[in-house]
Amino acid sequence: MSYDLVLKGGRVIDERNGVDGVFDVAIRGGRIAAVGQGLDATGARVRDVAGCIVAPGLIDIHTHVYHKATSLSVDPDMIARRAAITTLIDAGSAGAGNYDGFRDYVMARSPYRILAFLNISFPGIFGFDKGLFIGEATLADMLPVDRCVRKIEANRDRIIGVKVRIGGPATGDLGLGALELALEAAEQTGLPLMTHIGGPPPSYAEVVSMLRPGDILTHCYRPDPNSALGPDGKVLKEVRDARERGVLFDIAHGMGAFGYASTEAALRDGFPPDLISSDVHVVAVEGPGYDLLHTMSKLYNCGIPLKDIIGMSTSRPALAVRRPDLRHIGVGAEADITVLRDAPSNYVFADVQGVTRQGTRLLQPVACYLGGREMEVTHRPFEEPFVLHEHHHHH
Ligand SMILES: [Zn+2]
Repeated sequence: MSYDLVLKGGRVIDERNGVDGVFDVAIRGGRIAAVGQGLDATGARVRDVAGCIVAPGLIDIHTHVYHKATSLSVDPDMIARRAAITTLIDAGSAGAGNYDGFRDYVMARSPYRILAFLNISFPGIFGFDKGLFIGEATLADMLPVDRCVRKIEANRDRIIGVKVRIGGPATGDLGLGALELALEAAEQTGLPLMTHIGGPPPSYAEVVSMLRPGDILTHCYRPDPNSALGPDGKVLKEVRDARERGVLFDIAHGMGAFGYASTEAALRDGFPPDLISSDVHVVAVEGPGYDLLHTMSKLYNCGIPLKDIIGMSTSRPALAVRRPDLRHIGVGAEADITVLRDAPSNYVFADVQGVTRQGTRLLQPVACYLGGREMEVTHRPFEEPFVLHEHHHHH
């Protein structure tokens, strides 16, 4: 019984199946055919991935990729190539009023898996650009629950939740009223709600207190004002209570939502994130957020173990959007695989306020397989000094 492709000798990290060790991974017919040591590769294409990490395909649970139709979005294929991602999940770029274009002009044309949280706001995020910020959730009239529910019912193949942005200019005077409407849509469709937390009002504590088990608080380590921390530097009681009842906390780096002060304080207080995501959009794509892989590197250098970094970017987001099929690389699973290099590096990372930390490691893309098909990977702009050709990898 021969295989199409065998990835030889990489460190396989597959949280769902409790695997962390050096194994071969064999693919046949677009699915994982075997995971084991010394697999017989006779007749198969072989890639030597010794020294590399072999993980389930990376999932970025917070992106903006309704490219060219919404001002904040970037090209999904470009982002997937440079961060070795197989699944991109859009966080509410589209609402019920313009989702069909997203489905037909972007999702249908991309080779990558693109799923979406549908914005409770009918036009989606329509007024976001460099230097432009018009709230899409400031008027109850813009948030018709019935329209959101109907669009979801007709598109359950790709819509996996509801999105709302709460706080500051996104909601203006409507504040928590927008959150109530979004929760109603999520409740009626039985899907999770992803809630953005911005500047106050409303407060982080007020927002997180309204979330249900399985809902996602995105931008969890945003800097003050309105961080997850109290004046004592400890994680707020309301935040801990929310985790206790099953609310998930997502990084969503973006342009304003990752601060070293709040991140390091939360980690010191024993409050790691559940999910890592980039919130990549037209501003964040140029740094300091860049993309999922860069955000993973940043948190890795904050001391989160590599196994967890991978889990927070693969099996855990898959579970959060109820796609357990995308969680793992066990036998029978679709062969979505990301191969990375954990490279020594003195790269200087920056948060959204310009605070820097010198790292020691940088995760770099090596190869990416989507349903067994090899996808192109590219270098990212900040990787120039750390070129990949010093290790064995065959295109
Ligand atoms: Zn976003």
